[in-house]
Amino acid sequence: MTYSIIIPIYNEEDILPELHRRLTSVLDSLGESSEVILIDDGSADHSYDAMNEIHRKDQRFKVLRLSRNFGHQVAITAGLDYATGEAVILMDGDLQDPPELLAEMTAQWKAGYQVVYTVKRSRKENALKRFAFASFYRLMHTFSSISIPMEAGNFSLLDKRVVDVLRNMPERNRYISGMRAWAGFTQVGVEFHRDARYSGMPKMTLKRLINLALDGLISFSNAPLRLAIYIGVVVAGFSFLGAAYVIYEKLFTHQAILGWTSTIVAITFIGGMILLTLGVIGEYIGRIYDEVKHRPIYIVKDKIGL
Ligand code: UDP
Ligand code: MG
Repeated sequence: MTYSIIIPIYNEEDILPELHRRLTSVLDSLGESSEVILIDDGSADHSYDAMNEIHRKDQRFKVLRLSRNFGHQVAITAGLDYATGEAVILMDGDLQDPPELLAEMTAQWKAGYQVVYTVKRSRKENALKRFAFASFYRLMHTFSSISIPMEAGNFSLLDKRVVDVLRNMPERNRYISGMRAWAGFTQVGVEFHRDARYSGMPKMTLKRLINLALDGLISFSNAPLRLAIYIGVVVAGFSFLGAAYVIYEKLFTHQAILGWTSTIVAITFIGGMILLTLGVIGEYIGRIYDEVKHRPIYIVKDKIGL
């Protein structure tokens, strides 16, 4: 098998026939042997039946059904475990990642790159979402301990050796773009324009996107923990200045000290800072707890063609 294409699917029954149509023509033009692993991430609509139907028509399409909805990144992880190709391609199932770009990605792989990631030159989301994504990538770029390319999402091609590295990363909080960058090897970016969703609403709600952003930031950076130290140093610095001023007034002037406002301001400010830093520490501890439970990352319910 040369290519394995991994596509997580969550309630996409309207898109599957079109996805099948566009992928088939791309696979035929690639010319080499390939498989498509569709991961049903606990869909509640008729996506699974639609995938069954596609498999009946075309044996290259295989289906892995998870026991419930585990989320996008975990669905991709499951697909990686079952992929047998020399190169594995990760893409979304809503046709926002154009299958036609595979020709260029596989060409780069043949030219010797082990990771071909894609960089979004433009997106068709609303201004607020675009701003949120841009800020996230900038934050990651500034604070993460490894260099994660800007605007590079899941859509990518990974050589078998890189897939082996990802398979051996046991963490439960999975941020695939970060893990891919962490793996190293020779990487190259290919630019593309991200289309709008073919149909339906995004399955990654705002809450899920925020969770993913936090997973990414916290898995690949200790900067938030360090931020707590910086805030502590700044606050302590101000309180020393304040103390010096108060002592000066007490010893060398005869001004009456009113004091109530400044006391309340100081108490609420420091209280807020303590809660903030505790929250940051809590985020890390929560993730440590997730990791030490050692539960399986996903559970497979059914397999078709695998
Ligand atoms: N998806 C999934 N499980 C989820 C959420 C999403 O498998 O819990 C799939 C979804 O069907 C789609 C891909 O992941 O194929 C990307 O989701 P979406 O388009 O909602 O994300 P966005 O493009 O908004 O980041
Ligand atoms: Mg999408």
